[in-house]
Amino acid sequence: LPEDRQLGFAVVGLGKLALGEIMDAFATARRAKVTALVSGNRDKALRVAARYGVPESGLYSYDDFDRIADNPAVDVVYIVLPNALHRAFAERAFRAGKHVLCEKPMATNVADCAAMIAASEAAGRKLMIAYRCQFEPHNLMAMRAIRGGELGAVRVITADVGRGTDPRDPADQWRLNRALAGSGSLFDIGIYGLNAARFLVGEEPVEVRAQLYARPDDPRFREVEDVVVWTMRFPGGAQFHGSTSYSYSFTNRIQATCDNGVLVLDPSMEYHAQRLQIRDRTIQMSPIDQFAREMDHFCMAITDGVPIVADGAEGMQDVRLMLAILEAGRTGRAVST
Ligand code: NDP
Repeated sequence: LPEDRQLGFAVVGLGKLALGEIMDAFATARRAKVTALVSGNRDKALRVAARYGVPESGLYSYDDFDRIADNPAVDVVYIVLPNALHRAFAERAFRAGKHVLCEKPMATNVADCAAMIAASEAAGRKLMIAYRCQFEPHNLMAMRAIRGGELGAVRVITADVGRGTDPRDPADQWRLNRALAGSGSLFDIGIYGLNAARFLVGEEPVEVRAQLYARPDDPRFREVEDVVVWTMRFPGGAQFHGSTSYSYSFTNRIQATCDNGVLVLDPSMEYHAQRLQIRDRTIQMSPIDQFAREMDHFCMAITDGVPIVADGAEGMQDVRLMLAILEAGRTGRAVST
């Protein structure tokens, strides 16, 4: 597309996800281009800017970020910061008149989510939460197969999604810190199983139950949860059971057991490879860049009024449900949602 049909993005927080996936996704995106970087590390920002052709005039620190209001090359602020910082930067971006794409989880509590939605409305600017799997073709095909009725009624969704954490890795240090992460495995990675279940079934759960566990001698879990095993009941009769963890290696599998057969996504949420099995048929499409798709979608929502796939309400619903799951785990009681 001609450059003037593209929207300019400021990427906030040059960490693992931004540098490992998002910066490269702009090469594949058709509607989005990177025009600014916001970082606490000026040297890193200069290096990244040189590599991706971002002008020095598009570099900001967290302190002078509000100057971005004066940069007409930035339309969208993409927040890729630790979870507890999402709200403040979303509010500042809206005050600067920019649209906001925010990484999952949207925030660490419902009040912050509500404030982000209110700030978006007050500014007349759009807010989207970066649920990349909702743009991923295997996940989309699974959703269509289930909601289209091909497999009959969904009886049970099973989702096991987890990842290990290493306190020596800076990207995991804030994840184990409640003040920055808000919460642990459920908010970071269990959210994929939760969101996929809602996405596949197309309904909202009405009741959750849960158990929490961390080995008592594991210092990583003084502040945030490790293993969460939980169930959910959907109003149409589907049930869910799932797990997430920060202490054993990656699990990444979602299964829908339906009246007329079984559907499995395994892996379900890799960056560059998924596999879908519908009954005895295995589907492996060539990978697409989910980040490019999601950025392009947001651009179309901004310029062409296409409805946003994952808006603030979607992000807030997951936060609300995750807090209910943790409450159920702490109290040992079922929690109505
Ligand atoms: P990283 O720790 O690797 O990156 C976060 C960056 O935020 C840091 O590099 C730093 O950038 C900046 N930052 C600002 N303040 C702080 C602070 N107090 N402590 C630590 N970092 C700070 O994390 P990730 O990239 O893995 O995760 C970032 C966000 O993206 C999270 O919300 C996470 O949930 C989400 N995520 C989403 C994924 C997806 O597939 N959609 C996958 C992975 C993460 P700088 O040095 O430039 O200032």
